[in-house]
Amino acid sequence: MLSKKLISLLLFSASTHAQPLNILLYHHVAEQTPHSTSTRLVHFQNQLDHFIEQGYQIVDLEHATRQIQQGNVLTRKSLALTFDDGFSSVCDIAYPELKKRGLPFTVFVTTDPIDKGYPGYCSWSQLKEMSENGATIANHTTDHAHLVSEAFTNTEWFDDAKTNIIQAQNTIERRIGKAPMLFAYPYGEYNKALKQWLNEQGYVSFGQQSGSVGSTSDFQALPRFNAAGHYASLTSLRNKITASPLLFDYSELPDPLTTNNRPSVTVTLQPSNEAYYPHLQCFFNGKPIEVEWLSTTKFSAMPPTPQSNGRHRLNCTAPHRNGSPYYWMSQQWLIIPSN
Ligand SMILES: [Zn+2]
Repeated sequence: MLSKKLISLLLFSASTHAQPLNILLYHHVAEQTPHSTSTRLVHFQNQLDHFIEQGYQIVDLEHATRQIQQGNVLTRKSLALTFDDGFSSVCDIAYPELKKRGLPFTVFVTTDPIDKGYPGYCSWSQLKEMSENGATIANHTTDHAHLVSEAFTNTEWFDDAKTNIIQAQNTIERRIGKAPMLFAYPYGEYNKALKQWLNEQGYVSFGQQSGSVGSTSDFQALPRFNAAGHYASLTSLRNKITASPLLFDYSELPDPLTTNNRPSVTVTLQPSNEAYYPHLQCFFNGKPIEVEWLSTTKFSAMPPTPQSNGRHRLNCTAPHRNGSPYYWMSQQWLIIPSN
């Protein structure tokens, strides 16, 4: 008889040609909702058909991220589909398309508006039915709070954040019958203390910064690619579904919550025969910025001018030596006032 370990090796070969996992982020699949968070149905259908035609396996988010976390590798190019907030178009419009194609997906729900039966949100009975047909229903807090924005000014912030997450988890457990240990930060906002607590609780957690998932990822701040608004077209998505992670220890990234209005990231990349570091480029809020190289594998990137309070995004990409695909890293900053 084959041992459990051998079976696992056969399924998740320790081959050096590990395939990355790219996670897509959706909110609405609809026409009339805000453009930046909406994917039109025709685009959504085209995306799903394209993924299947191109040979992607659409994976169960929890299973795939746990496998990578445990050091196993994906042997097929893989995508996971996630939907934040639990908006009604996900249940009414996206779900029939996903069910028809037999694809798994995850809905990160904000539990209060669903409990209160707010218009524009899925109902618990819809979510329960979806959970019996390929959907994972997971935690996105009770009320979509800015969990860490008062971390420097309000001593209660940490207890409030923990209570919020625990309550949402209990509600999902009660309504759906099971609650996986998956958490998506509202607005993609987190800090080191919250990440550490989520890790101790056994969660895998997701941000809203771009990037690809691999063995060196931070499993309390996994990146997701936005597949809505300007990013919904196949042209825009092509570089993302083929992306790989820039390889370095992501747990060494600085705390994204800062009072510094010119926050800086320093990254020490693993040597690579594939990613072409001399062509690495960084973008701050979508605009190219200068990269300072401290060695052939170590660079720093910061915005050239002081930034306003609020969320900002740093993306860095390097092409493969042959031109494509692209290797990514990203950090979302949350700058808050110093007083
Ligand atoms: Zn959200």
